[in-house]
Amino acid sequence: MREQIFTYGQYLSEKFGCKVSKVPVSISGFTCPNIDGSVAKGGCTFCENDSFSPSLDKVKPLKGFFLNLDSLENPYLDKQLQQLEWQFTALSQKLSKDNGTQKYLVYFQSFTNTYAPLSTLKALYEKALTFENVVGLSIGTRSDSISEEAFEYLAELAKRTEVWIEFGIQSIFDETLERVNRGHDSQSVKNAIVKAKEYGLNVCGHLIFGLPGEDKKMMLETAKAAYELGVDSLKYHPLYVVKRTALANEYGRGEFNPIGEELYLEVLTEALKLKPAHISVQRLSAGVDDDSLIAPQWCRDKNSQIRAINNALKSVGLKY
Ligand code: SF4
Repeated sequence: MREQIFTYGQYLSEKFGCKVSKVPVSISGFTCPNIDGSVAKGGCTFCENDSFSPSLDKVKPLKGFFLNLDSLENPYLDKQLQQLEWQFTALSQKLSKDNGTQKYLVYFQSFTNTYAPLSTLKALYEKALTFENVVGLSIGTRSDSISEEAFEYLAELAKRTEVWIEFGIQSIFDETLERVNRGHDSQSVKNAIVKAKEYGLNVCGHLIFGLPGEDKKMMLETAKAAYELGVDSLKYHPLYVVKRTALANEYGRGEFNPIGEELYLEVLTEALKLKPAHISVQRLSAGVDDDSLIAPQWCRDKNSQIRAINNALKSVGLKY
């Protein structure tokens, strides 16, 4: 008898009594302090933001727009609210038709979704909560880009709706974070997760296996550290190289070797064996099937990746 891994879908259906899905949205005007020069320029070496949401229309940040985070003026707010509604309507209808989703979490996915004036964040989040059958929000951000006021506001919001914050943990090793130009250290992530939990928020962490310079032991150390930090949910990804990134240049110069599928499966299954049962899992794979993918090729075919993951899990008595 194989042990069922606790999935995020299970968590949501147990909580809301029906099929609940995340609806990803991407708001123009949002950017990232690691791209706009506030923290660093160029972003993480693996970041080409369109690769996060190839299905969405390409939404470019309005350069410099949010540099003054204290500004209460946002001349683009109406447009952003319209865009939010338009994206939500299109994707929620598709999900409902494709897999019978009945309720939704609006997932602010692309860029850094707490890196804007609080008045803008409030307007967008509150608008999202007015959409039919929306039961909450999931907000992707960076550990260095969420203010005390935003935490306080989200904690209030969490009293009446489901609120998740998603932090990129990626690695707990500072030398790795530096190598990928992450723009913050591991202490920043630890502090943010602890604080989010103190504010009563649900936390999802993102982990990447196969970062430059990391071996299996380091990847498992990162997974264990995430478990100990008290995350409620996790996404596990292999690192892959896409065009128009600094990592693509490193790969081209022979300075970076992508993780092989065998090693990824080995690390992933061990990490899942070590995972406390109550932490739900949102994702075990990642890749792109268009011509933006450079390497590794095993990240191109999602179906074969899923088959390989299922077989690997089976061999260690797990089921996803
Ligand atoms: S934090 Fe996210 S959006 Fe910003 S550069 Fe890194 S991967 Fe890109």
